[in-house]
Amino acid sequence: MSVLDLVFAPSAILNKKANNVINIDKDIKTLVSNMFDTMYKYNGVGLAAPQVNESLQILIMDCSNKDNAYKPFTLINPIIIDESKNLKLYEEGCLSFPEQYFEVSRPEFVKANYLDIDGKSKEKVFNGFEAVCVQHEIDHLIGILFTSYISSLRRQIILKKMQKFKKNLNKSI
Ligand SMILES: [Zn+2]
Repeated sequence: MSVLDLVFAPSAILNKKANNVINIDKDIKTLVSNMFDTMYKYNGVGLAAPQVNESLQILIMDCSNKDNAYKPFTLINPIIIDESKNLKLYEEGCLSFPEQYFEVSRPEFVKANYLDIDGKSKEKVFNGFEAVCVQHEIDHLIGILFTSYISSLRRQIILKKMQKFKKNLNKSI
């Protein structure tokens, strides 16, 4: 078990497009396994590789709750190939923005194409909370943060809070 360090906003790696994974080798499998350890440790429901300082097109998610069994997904090089016209508001959080939660409007369902951890090409429709999660994480892989969906004024306020958070973090080390 290996819990990785999270990257907190603002950080350049969170704002750039991640690189495609060419070969799902042992290093990639270890990274994915460590990403799951990290996500579960911090009670997240999704995590993208740039959030652990790896600029790679990898995301993991598990939207099960305490009452459900684990339902982990690994998506490599994912792309959204279809989405509903219907939008839905949902309150989102992000492991790169501790304690910041706000509503974001996104398509109610999406269809994504991706490689699984064995390199098999998959196509899947994500609904409900999984649709929210997969869209939030795919955004991370193209350098878009959930703060892109709110007013610039609110974004500035959150940015200031995050700068303060990171400053206090450095002090406590
Ligand atoms: Zn996030």
